[in-house]
Amino acid sequence: METARQWLDPVLRIPDVINEVLGDVHPFRIIVLTCGATILAFYLRNLEITDEPWRRVRAWGLRKLFKLSFIRKYVDREVQKARKELIHGLDQEVAGSPYITHLPSQGLDPNDILQRTELYCKFGKVKYEEGRASGAVYEVDPKQYEIMMKVYARTVKFNNLHRDIFPGCRKMEAEIVRMVCNIFHGGKNSCGVLTSGGTESLILACLAYRNWAREERGISRPEMVVPVSAHAGFDKAASFLNMKIRHVPVDPVTQKVNPQIMKKYINRNTCMLVGSAPGFPHGVMDPIEEIARLGASRGIPVHVDGCLGGFLIAFMEDAGFPFPPFDFRVKGVTSISADTHKYGYCIKGSSTVMYSEPIYLQHQIYVNADWQGGAYATPTLAGSRPGGMTAASWAGLLHMGYDGYVQATRNIISKARYIEANVKKIPGLKTLGPPEVSIVSIMSDTFSIYRFSDGMFQRGWALSNLQSPSAVHLCVTKAHCMEGVADQFLADAAEIAAQLIKDPQQVKEGAGVMYGVSQEIPDRSIVKEFVCSFVEAWYHTKSEDEESDEKEVLTNGAAMNLT
Ligand SMILES: *Cc1c(COP(=O)(O)O)cnc(C)c1O
Repeated sequence: METARQWLDPVLRIPDVINEVLGDVHPFRIIVLTCGATILAFYLRNLEITDEPWRRVRAWGLRKLFKLSFIRKYVDREVQKARKELIHGLDQEVAGSPYITHLPSQGLDPNDILQRTELYCKFGKVKYEEGRASGAVYEVDPKQYEIMMKVYARTVKFNNLHRDIFPGCRKMEAEIVRMVCNIFHGGKNSCGVLTSGGTESLILACLAYRNWAREERGISRPEMVVPVSAHAGFDKAASFLNMKIRHVPVDPVTQKVNPQIMKKYINRNTCMLVGSAPGFPHGVMDPIEEIARLGASRGIPVHVDGCLGGFLIAFMEDAGFPFPPFDFRVKGVTSISADTHKYGYCIKGSSTVMYSEPIYLQHQIYVNADWQGGAYATPTLAGSRPGGMTAASWAGLLHMGYDGYVQATRNIISKARYIEANVKKIPGLKTLGPPEVSIVSIMSDTFSIYRFSDGMFQRGWALSNLQSPSAVHLCVTKAHCMEGVADQFLADAAEIAAQLIKDPQQVKEGAGVMYGVSQEIPDRSIVKEFVCSFVEAWYHTKSEDEESDEKEVLTNGAAMNLT
């Protein structure tokens, strides 16, 4: 009784204290100040939710600083210089062939167009058909392409939007979704759609969970919890869909996300958790079972990003490699994305996103019942869709067959392990460990790994450069399973590493400069400015130092002169 009074007394005195302090203040001022403070608090809260506040304040400060004319001028000059160099590089790649900038007044002869196409196919130094690229081209079997191309040619007029006109197209898409759901052991409620690529699959999954959280859970600002190693497509989705993305750091050694740490990023606004199976940078599998358990225990949907390796890991067991469960058999996994245009061996422009239950898919579907153009509903981002692509993907899956995928998986996984086992023997190079799936990630404690990457590029190898931590990787595909490719890679890697080891401190160059510089710039908005100017430059059709406005006049037969 006594102790209760002891702490109750001061509390009861609060109103008196406030009255005493504010006794002389005009009530009107109190009202205005209270309202003002509330509005400010809400403003700050919104600021916090839309983006990391510190980053914004700092970026704002730096932008102001960069507005100071001399710094601004310096940055502009650097951007212009870099852009000029880039444009020069782009022009070199297509040297000897002027840009077409106007429609030919008369249509060109088909032979002329084909000849030009041949010329354009010859541009570029990377012999991707000979297995010199990391990832990029996953299929090399001409028979697989032949059937897909034949089917594409036959169905090129198909449009998934007009199912009434093309019932065959609808049937093909439904069959693709069902076959893929079955590969990933989706139950009878499982469902999904065919998309234009992995990024669209990710955006759609995020859209579904955002809308689901808003409408089923009353969460007004849904957030996703995503390992930093997850694909940039999630950040893109967050930016497009105005969602907050919380990045969970990964283990610096294994590069895997730790579910115990992930748990700390969950709050009442969390609408989805993500695990990569495997992730693009180092090709590691996140602990899907544990993430799924976490999701299930909190009632939060879990997306498994199998865009890259979905069509490998689904066949690992049958190919003779023990593999932990990751698909719809794991309780808590509510969606999976898997790219038919990567290890599905279909042509570029197709992927799948699947859900365990239709409730999520329903939230992905866009409906406008009142449009003047008629009641309108689409399941994906596009309106009209290339039905020929649907048909070609359907043909690709049917031509591969279950055994085809198992065989391809066996070859690729064995080859990736062979390459890794031998790369790490090369002095100066090290790896992250045996690849869990198909990516061999390579690092160095001795020299800049980007110099290694540049050296390999000089020899025709296009590896993927990674950052934070600095590394490169080779994404092993069917192209690397061709006779002699892996051993050539190892031989070239050994020679380049031997050269670098002689002079390990030499300044970085090429890719090294790009990554080195960009990692050292504290203000990411400047990096963004640089990169934007590069992307813009991809679309230039006239080299900057070209003075005259003269254009090639396209006439039939002109292609002959170019070759
Ligand atoms: C390639 C990839 C994606 C995105 O695929 P795109 O087809 O390039 O849009 C998503 N996640 C992972 C892990 C990937 O490797």
